[in-house]
Amino acid sequence: LTVSITGATGFIGRRLVQRLHADNHSVHVLTRSRSKSELIFPVKDFPGIVIAEEPQWKDSIQGSTGVVNLAGLPISTRWSPEIKKEIKTSRIRVTSKVIDLINDLPDAVRPTVLVSATAVGYYGTSETQIFDEQSPSGNDYLAEVCREWEGTALKVNKDVRLALVRIGVVLGNDGGALAKMIPLFMVFAGGPLGSGKQWFSWIHLDDIVNLIYEALSNPSYKGVINGTAPNPVRFAEMCEHLGNVLGRPSWLPVPDFALKAVLGEGASVVLDGQRVLPVRAKELGFSFKYSYVRDALRSIISQKAA
Ligand code: NDP
Repeated sequence: LTVSITGATGFIGRRLVQRLHADNHSVHVLTRSRSKSELIFPVKDFPGIVIAEEPQWKDSIQGSTGVVNLAGLPISTRWSPEIKKEIKTSRIRVTSKVIDLINDLPDAVRPTVLVSATAVGYYGTSETQIFDEQSPSGNDYLAEVCREWEGTALKVNKDVRLALVRIGVVLGNDGGALAKMIPLFMVFAGGPLGSGKQWFSWIHLDDIVNLIYEALSNPSYKGVINGTAPNPVRFAEMCEHLGNVLGRPSWLPVPDFALKAVLGEGASVVLDGQRVLPVRAKELGFSFKYSYVRDALRSIISQKAA
């Protein structure tokens, strides 16, 4: 495969690039910053990798069999009105650009697959409903962002196989939501964040990377696919396991204000969750390495300690 990836320098993208490169596929990093990308992917460790800033994206996409679109301003920040707007517009801008570049190519040199990220925020939040790929969209801001983000990707040429992966909260080493939550746990001796009743639809970093990888190479992966583990948990349960693996019994609720202080309004992702099931991934026969949050956390924390 030859794969062009936006957001390749991020938490999920970095691991995807490592995997593809290790399997001898060609990778093009589509980035806003060559210097940042060169630090993340030094040539000595990633011989042959191509780093492309925006003016070169066209050439990269033209030479690719597949494109993965992961770029966007992180949502776990304090949401000023400007940032809130940029959370949406950064995603729409990059996605539109990628779609235009793909669509403008002659048929013979057009990539055959686009795997485009979206999020479980599409469904809105609920303590009682269960969401699968058929469920309607919610009515909060993140749902609106996801709808427009997906709507933009859906404009891709009909000959391109499109997989829209609605990603849950990704748990892994060195980044993502967990990196922000662990210090809070250490300060507050663990404990549920918020009421603890909210649902937490998580996925291990290895599994989301495998799912994206599979979507690139397997023609059955098409349309919306939830990127979440088979067993979402209520947040109190997630925190209990995290407390256990960190050796911090989960007694005291971590106050909402503390969480909002580190995550800003992006805290809504963990304060008000949704219970999302990976129905399509299961139908497609995708094999999850981590089905239970306790195992996922154990493996992540033991790697951290190692
Ligand atoms: P990161 O925040 O780690 O990385 C995103 C990448 O997007 C960055 O490396 C950067 O690449 C690019 N980027 C950042 N800001 C902007 C901007 N303002 N305009 C254009 N590009 C920008 O993301 P993750 O790896 O965590 O996630 C990848 C995608 O999956 C994201 O779109 C995210 O919303 C989605 N997702 C992630 C979840 C998670 O738990 N991690 C959960 C649900 C969805 P560069 O600087 O090289 O251009």
